[in-house]
Amino acid sequence: MGEPITATWYDGRSARGRPVQATVEDGTLWLCDDEGQRHGLALGRVQWPERTRHGQRVAQLQDGGALAFADVAAFDAWWRAQGLRESWVVRAQQHWRATLAALAGLLLVGAAGYVWGVPWVAAGVVAATPATVEAAIGDTALEQLRAGLFQPTRTPPEVQARWRSQLEAALQQAYPEGPAPWQLHFAGGGRLGANAVALPGGHIVITDELLALLQGADDAVLGVLAHEHGHVRRRHGLHAVVRFGIVSAAASVALGDFSAIVAGVPALLAHLGYSRDAEREADADAAHVLRAAGRDPAAMVLLFERLAARSRSEGTDRGGLPIAFASHPADEERMRFFREAARSRR
Ligand SMILES: [Zn+2]
Repeated sequence: MGEPITATWYDGRSARGRPVQATVEDGTLWLCDDEGQRHGLALGRVQWPERTRHGQRVAQLQDGGALAFADVAAFDAWWRAQGLRESWVVRAQQHWRATLAALAGLLLVGAAGYVWGVPWVAAGVVAATPATVEAAIGDTALEQLRAGLFQPTRTPPEVQARWRSQLEAALQQAYPEGPAPWQLHFAGGGRLGANAVALPGGHIVITDELLALLQGADDAVLGVLAHEHGHVRRRHGLHAVVRFGIVSAAASVALGDFSAIVAGVPALLAHLGYSRDAEREADADAAHVLRAAGRDPAAMVLLFERLAARSRSEGTDRGGLPIAFASHPADEERMRFFREAARSRR
């Protein structure tokens, strides 16, 4: 049995990476997590990273997952010690052909971009992006925001649990086929104040200040969360990332190396915004979820009024996070939409 190495496992379903110990034994890659659970994958179903590549090593797993090794030197030594070199040569040749095919594909994508425009190409790139890549971008974005903008939350765990179960129940009613996977986080807003944001990979963050602002208006809180879940469900965050850097993103995704995108996340966060169409879609999802849960969509109008009153008294700086809720305040059209959604409620 070989030596274990520490890695982060993205299983392709959950947005969160899990720390694991990886070992190779009898033609199988074994991943052992903190709780001692073992997950085995035949070696033939693992695509090892190129050793010449910079940044962290990421192995692609054919079950849709990925395995990231932060310590490059340790990985290279471990990988050689497993005697995986033989198959490497064979794979390298196959990989070279795949790379050529990917480059040809990129030229086509580039040409299509000129002909049909970036949105159509972005949609294609988003559709082709594995959940693991989106998860890596989202995890990095959340870490960045925790380190640079958000403060530790003062919302008690039992209140957090109540909101998670309320959102879960409402989403189940709205989407009986199953809502898109999400995780709800709470944070002190810092410079962002009363706010909420959805990140790629299903992370939704709501600030203590927004909960305080909406004290007693539970329908409005649920509406904000449903709006953010709308961004998650429609992968708006990833759309924004891809449209921001269409060529480099397409190249990285096609070549299976997303370390370049992940490295660019801090800079991206200051510039990413959702389009008006994206906001309209997320608002429509919020109204749908509120109606399905028997709540009042008109509660969103109250939310917009309170946010507007607050930003008048505080000034309009929202800390430079354009994808956050309070960065795209309501206009008459959005307010009218929720008033009408309330009237058509059955
Ligand atoms: Zn939004």
